[in-house]
Amino acid sequence: MRNRTTSAVVWALLLLILSQVAAFAIDDPSYELSPWPYGAIAWVGGLPDDTQTMSAILTQAVEDVFTLWELPVPSPMAGWADPASNESAWKTGKTTGVIPQVIKKNPATNRIWRLNPLIWEEIETYPILFIAFPTRTLLAQAFGSTTTGGVWMRGGAALAGSAVWYQSITGVPLSITAPITDGMLTIWHEFGHWMTYLVCSREDAPTDSSLPLLLREGIAEYTESYFVGLSERKTYAAAWAKENALLLELDVYNTYRIGASLVAYLVETHGPTEFLASLSAWAENPEDQIARIEPGWRAWLGIVPPRQRIQRIR
Ligand SMILES: [Zn+2]
Repeated sequence: MRNRTTSAVVWALLLLILSQVAAFAIDDPSYELSPWPYGAIAWVGGLPDDTQTMSAILTQAVEDVFTLWELPVPSPMAGWADPASNESAWKTGKTTGVIPQVIKKNPATNRIWRLNPLIWEEIETYPILFIAFPTRTLLAQAFGSTTTGGVWMRGGAALAGSAVWYQSITGVPLSITAPITDGMLTIWHEFGHWMTYLVCSREDAPTDSSLPLLLREGIAEYTESYFVGLSERKTYAAAWAKENALLLELDVYNTYRIGASLVAYLVETHGPTEFLASLSAWAENPEDQIARIEPGWRAWLGIVPPRQRIQRIR
């Protein structure tokens, strides 16, 4: 009996300690939400002084990415400026019911935010929760890794090994996480993934996750590289292709770099629209696509195929 009482007290204490630890893990560091035309921004560590400017930069980046791909820019979400006062759309019959609302609690004010669906090319889709990190250090702590610079996340998935407080923010259908104080590359890259997701929805293609990684990351890398110049990627790919054959599965380093050059070649040769229309074929038969484009890609890089070189020597 005494033993039981003792163990009950121990358990109660343990639970108390665990709940305190959990509360710490979620609250520290906290975040604050601000409205955004394409969803909402969660500012890790609180609102920055230049919230308006930073929001406008992100909005501009969305416009730049969709324009680069010769696509219409998504329309601002209905009622985006005051999401706390939005009536939930599923109650008012404004949606088909296929796309539920994203509902987030703003920890600073304890208010519920209801984000309406986004409309793009007559597709009703989820708004984006943009999770903005003030530093890469904090981002690495959240990811539990220093190897990832940003992330595009679908379906409320949790990044393996990431912190509990961070997972509590990503529990929404679509989120993008990126640092916002060290340049635009990661931001353009992640918006490139979002663009791919939307195009796959529009084309009734298999989802973006069924595209080979080489192409999926290639599109995102091409998107970010486009704004700073693609020549370095092309030079790297040309040196690489002299020694290597194109494969669907490359190591991580080359998946990004070779993928970018592949997409650059396809976009320059066929134009963005025709390239995006080929995404279904890429998802369905990637081996066939690779085999078909390799000779043209090598020629574009200025690489003489090995067989021709041998013939010339003879
Ligand atoms: Zn990526």
